[in-house]
Amino acid sequence: MPACARKSDDGGIKAAASPVLERMIVGARRGWDADCTVRVLGAPADAVVAFLRFLYSNPRAAAAAAAGEWAEEDAVSAHGAALLALAHAYRVPWLKRRTEAAVSARLTAERAVDALKLAALCDAPRLYLSCARLAGKNLDAVERSEGWSFAGRHDAALRLNLLQLLHDADQRNERWERERASQHVYGQLSDAMAFLDRIFAGTEEASSCEDEDEDEDGVRRGLEQLMRHFAACGGRTRKPAACPRCRRAFQLLRLHASVCDRAGAGDGDGDGGEPCKVALCSNLKAKMQEEGVDKTWKLLVKKVTRARVMSALASREVPEVVKKSWAKYSSRRAARIR
Ligand SMILES: [Zn+2]
Ligand SMILES: [Zn+2]
Repeated sequence: MPACARKSDDGGIKAAASPVLERMIVGARRGWDADCTVRVLGAPADAVVAFLRFLYSNPRAAAAAAAGEWAEEDAVSAHGAALLALAHAYRVPWLKRRTEAAVSARLTAERAVDALKLAALCDAPRLYLSCARLAGKNLDAVERSEGWSFAGRHDAALRLNLLQLLHDADQRNERWERERASQHVYGQLSDAMAFLDRIFAGTEEASSCEDEDEDEDGVRRGLEQLMRHFAACGGRTRKPAACPRCRRAFQLLRLHASVCDRAGAGDGDGDGGEPCKVALCSNLKAKMQEEGVDKTWKLLVKKVTRARVMSALASREVPEVVKKSWAKYSSRRAARIR
């Protein structure tokens, strides 16, 4: 049903808010001070009325005064899509931004295909992105929607758009999965570094604490065997590159030397703490210092170091001094209350 925008004294306000409306009003004007009527087609009358009310309101004041005479939010939720289309057609950028955000926020799987159509028609990239995100998260529900099957039957362009959307969503998922998988690997390597410290310090039996789960136990035993093998096989031949197990052990030892910040057992002055007892640590440190390492290795070291810091932060104990002062504080409070 068409609705009409009437130009009277306030026509100037509407014209200033929308350059398209301005042209229409000027075109429809038959003489100075004459009323003119502009037909706004293709949108429900209620939506057009809401649209005109928005044009009368000053966008900045409207944002601040939500307690105005009429409920703007209700209008946006009732006519969001139509308002977005009108704001786009009549070039009212502030209203377009606002309705695009509102439609994106209310997006459901059932409405996703229509919203996608709207996003393409109105050149609304944020809405498109929201559709892609939704399709990535809840593709099954989107595929079950009526809009989806309608598009499949009738709208080749929209179907193409949907395929593109799925492709985007898939890629996003894959990227996310890849990222998560690699985080896991760095975490495991960082754990392996901690086990190496314990194995070579000879404390692995004493410190096999109860909270270590079976997986960790398995990893630790695997590492022990690997290092024993290395000592017997690679240690004897001095050619670790010849044996795949020794190569693995050697890479882990090299990684340890890259992340280790302690002085070697025979190096004398280090940072004053316990010297490092891990095999080949100071040898490999010296070798890497001399020969340098490539970019990929540097990146690996950086990521493992970061994973190590993260896991240290996650499992950090409250320092003794904090515990003591907390106990003191609590007992003093308790005494005061009594
Ligand atoms: Zn070997
Ligand atoms: Zn070391």
